[in-house]
Amino acid sequence: SYEEANRYTLEYFKGDDLATRVWVNKYALKDSQGKIYERTPDDMHWRIASEIARVEAKYPDALSKQQIFDLIKNFQYIIPQGSPMTGIGNDFQIASLSNCFVIGNGTQSDSYGSIMKIDEEQVQLMKRRGGVGHDLSHIRPKGSAVKNSALTSTGLVPFMERYSNSTREVAQDGRRGALMLSVSINHPDAEDFIDAKLEQGKITGANISVRIDDAFMEAVRQDKEYTQKYPVFSSNPKFSKTIKARELWNKIVHNAWKSAEPGILFWDTIQKESVPDCYADLGFETVSTNPCGEIPLCPYDSCRLLAINLYSYVKNPFTPEAEFDFELFKEHVGYAQRMMDDIIDLETEKIQTILEKIDSDPEGDSIKSTERTLWEKIQAKTLEGRRTGVGITAEGDMLAALNLKYGSEEAVKFSTLVHKTLALAAYRSSVEMAKQRGAFPVYDATKEMSNPFIQRLRQSDPALYEEMVQHGRRNIALLTIAPTGSTSLMSQTTSGIEPVFLPVYKRRRKVNPNDKDVRVDFVDEVGDSWEEYIVFHHHFKTWMKVNGIDTDKNYSQDEINELIEKSPYHQATSNDVDWLSKVKMQGAIQKWVDHSISVTINVPHDATEKLVDELYLKAWEVGCKGVTVYRDGSRSGVLVSTQEKK
Ligand code: UDP
Repeated sequence: SYEEANRYTLEYFKGDDLATRVWVNKYALKDSQGKIYERTPDDMHWRIASEIARVEAKYPDALSKQQIFDLIKNFQYIIPQGSPMTGIGNDFQIASLSNCFVIGNGTQSDSYGSIMKIDEEQVQLMKRRGGVGHDLSHIRPKGSAVKNSALTSTGLVPFMERYSNSTREVAQDGRRGALMLSVSINHPDAEDFIDAKLEQGKITGANISVRIDDAFMEAVRQDKEYTQKYPVFSSNPKFSKTIKARELWNKIVHNAWKSAEPGILFWDTIQKESVPDCYADLGFETVSTNPCGEIPLCPYDSCRLLAINLYSYVKNPFTPEAEFDFELFKEHVGYAQRMMDDIIDLETEKIQTILEKIDSDPEGDSIKSTERTLWEKIQAKTLEGRRTGVGITAEGDMLAALNLKYGSEEAVKFSTLVHKTLALAAYRSSVEMAKQRGAFPVYDATKEMSNPFIQRLRQSDPALYEEMVQHGRRNIALLTIAPTGSTSLMSQTTSGIEPVFLPVYKRRRKVNPNDKDVRVDFVDEVGDSWEEYIVFHHHFKTWMKVNGIDTDKNYSQDEINELIEKSPYHQATSNDVDWLSKVKMQGAIQKWVDHSISVTINVPHDATEKLVDELYLKAWEVGCKGVTVYRDGSRSGVLVSTQEKK
């Protein structure tokens, strides 16, 4: 029962009620009647281990079920994220194991039929648990002629609304679908796109990002004109419009400052750095990204995510003897890459089940055809590229445990080394797999020879490169850094590459003022009484324990401030880290991540537009693939509260 699962899981997480709630509600195995089949994450980890072991057994040097369990148990080392965590070995839900999909393609027609087809595909993927992204640059701009009763077209915005509404419709067992809509800055409606979410309550079901090219950035820097076209970048456009690049840029900056959107995708950097784009002639041209931006994808490709918990590789954390165990890390990265490849085999089984389900439905063939063709296309692309999303979480805790201050030069250097090590170990594992399992079918060393990421790999490990040329590689692209939203709640660590949000915060619980021994700290506007209690960030508590500091005492605010000041989290939280060095860190790490990085630069409420402008420009200059800024309090409904800050 739920009650039982809650009780045992609370014990498992040592009293962490947030982790417990998220696991029981989102990830524990349950049927559509709400009957729950797993009591603690241990049961889930055995479920996952036995499925991955079943795939391993097909190949040489198979990992055993026990080995896999030991790697994933307690969210300590290797953590399959969201979709694989719920979906593997789960016969109650016919769902996909992919966290991310992109659909559509740049040259498709913008007929009403094709717009509705994308709408249907989006829903079909979300219903199977995927996050979806697609690009709108092929839709004709507002006011264009159409040869039907409308005479002129409505432009992008109404279609954004449509796709957003569809997303809001789809429920995914306790969560909503997630959507990314992108458009090229070269599109004549880019300005309307950028403004579309400003009105309260509009397009709430989608994240929006603008694809910005280098020519636009140069025009911004030199305050020059820039020509938008339809079709975008066409040498023979039906429509074109010359604008002041700076004016449009200022609008992007203003809106991001005001409401945290649009996000920016530095499109030339994405395409130039992307290994799959070397196979553009085979349909691997990147066109958009998944909802949080960490996986740029070509149409009908998908990606599954996994996070390695970096904190766990720190030996003697928070002591002067603290050190990072690179050997163990490299070994585990190799296993993680293999497990991700195994999960692709599990995913193809899942897609087979989805196809059987479609075929057995009594609906007519014409109704089923879009859905069926969609999954066939996804199946084909999955097997052609065997793309994986091996990433990390707990970067912030790792640095703190090593007594490195997040954002400092020393920390950036160390993080870069960790991500370089990760990249080389993952690629090595993928090359080893190519020897045992075969390379991804379209691998061609000459195609990717001059790709900058591959070049970097070659310079750092020439022997690995030679082996790759000889045997190929199992996976077309391997790495990412996802937000790890719920994953990091369960690993009880900082998320992705972010610094700690708050090392110490207050939570409130409702109390009955008439009960004995009750403390009422706060009465709300409807008269309910609340008790406030201190919650320490999990590894802040580890730091306290290592230093013999009492973790049960009810500290005053002054005492808390003093504690934070003494800790390695001091001036290294998302609210007080040096923003510019955070952007530089992202750029440095990006060199070793073949997909992208999801990161938000948090700035204080009184940050100026000029600061946002500088951060965005810097992000482009240092080689980030994308950037988002969140100004404290700029968007309602986001979990940020100034009262709770230290
Ligand atoms: N995602 C989604 N809906 C959600 C959360 C995530 O579709 O509610 C997808 C989306 O593509 C996102 C990716 O999963 O970019 C990874 O998100 P995150 O790292 O936060 O996943 P988690 O840690 O929750 O598994």
